[in-house]
Amino acid sequence: MTVSDWYGEGFPHIWLPYTQMKTVTPPLAVSHTRGSRIVLADGRELIDGIASWWTACHGYSHPHIRAAVSSQLDLMPHVMFGGLVHKPALTLAARLAKMLPGDLDRVFFTDSGSVAVEVALKMATQYWLNQGVHNRHTFVAFKGGYHGDTIAAMAVSDPDEGMHALFGGLLPKHQIVDLPRDEKSIAAFDTFLAQNAETLAGIIVEPLVQGAGGMLFHDSAVLQLIRAAADRHDLLLICDEIFTGFARTGTMFACDAAGIVPDILTLSKALTGGTMALAATVARPKVFDAFWSDNAQHALMHGPTFMANPLACAAANASLDLFDLEPRLAQAMAISEKLEAGLAPCRDIKGVKDVRVKGAIGVVELNRIDNLNDLKRRFVEAGVWVRPFNSIVYLTPALTMSDDDLDTLTTTIVKVLGKA
Ligand SMILES: *Cc1c(COP(=O)(O)O)cnc(C)c1O
Repeated sequence: MTVSDWYGEGFPHIWLPYTQMKTVTPPLAVSHTRGSRIVLADGRELIDGIASWWTACHGYSHPHIRAAVSSQLDLMPHVMFGGLVHKPALTLAARLAKMLPGDLDRVFFTDSGSVAVEVALKMATQYWLNQGVHNRHTFVAFKGGYHGDTIAAMAVSDPDEGMHALFGGLLPKHQIVDLPRDEKSIAAFDTFLAQNAETLAGIIVEPLVQGAGGMLFHDSAVLQLIRAAADRHDLLLICDEIFTGFARTGTMFACDAAGIVPDILTLSKALTGGTMALAATVARPKVFDAFWSDNAQHALMHGPTFMANPLACAAANASLDLFDLEPRLAQAMAISEKLEAGLAPCRDIKGVKDVRVKGAIGVVELNRIDNLNDLKRRFVEAGVWVRPFNSIVYLTPALTMSDDDLDTLTTTIVKVLGKA
């Protein structure tokens, strides 16, 4: 069968994400992946600058993760988590509790980031309900934020990115405000919280990096201020570390850099090293204790069919082994320096507005990108997988990427943008 046969047979039945199917540029067919490479069905090989939405932190097809999933497959691919538990989930929960900041120690597993956020919002709302407080079900979230595509997650995302205009009628209303970054905006934020505290359940924030909203960075100090404000106004703080978790920003978790402990924290993306779908919502005892009761109605009301899937938990445990065995944090910091140096020449290119790097995230922001598809095509022709969106070109490579591949990525970006 030729590549086009293989591709043509199924394509009329596929519906792609965020894609106008009528005018779509046909997506590239992938045959397999290894390390930092994507091998296409036609034999071409691309250096991957994105690591599949930064999930594949150890590179693709890592033998240690494959072996763990494979032996779990022999034992038990899946079993329901209602009334039953299993070793891979128990081990993973204990390991996460140990490595996460502070006393975040109660883990609820789900199967995607958006659902982990839904559970976090539900947990925070029910935290109040279980204590007899019935009017606190609104959340404070931030402009530029992104927390997922399901209804509740969309509703706490940036109004533009979260498609609030389109789905306005469907979405619950929350308070989306500017991130408090300076004295003045902190005072305003504080006044706002004071005026609304009675209706608010909590605050949700992506710590240090607002990812899908445009790779926008903020300092640790901003997080410390938000933590302090949440404490002052008795609000739960949810940190969505689905993007930032597992060394991406240069510390194991972004909250570590700020020295803060949120009340609830969400994880997904790199949790299984990019191998399987898995997510977690992790709570502190303060939150869990509000559900600990003789009243059956006070139980957490959620339970996805595939929660704590054993294959996914095995992959996650193997991924955590690799963080223990191999110097991922040092690699992230080395990548950070190389991104700084490699992307710096972009500052001299006409139309470039900003070049910024945090941990193993490199961003070139342009004034605007006129022909996104054309730019994407030129990256592929140059042998790299880089997916610009809005007005940015970004890199979130595997933390194991070789110096040579990283050099090729950055020099290709400089070259392609220079010619635009
Ligand atoms: C990707 C992402 C999500 C959504 O995760 P899905 O697995 O795509 O549902 C939520 N929050 C943040 C910060 C993310 O980066």
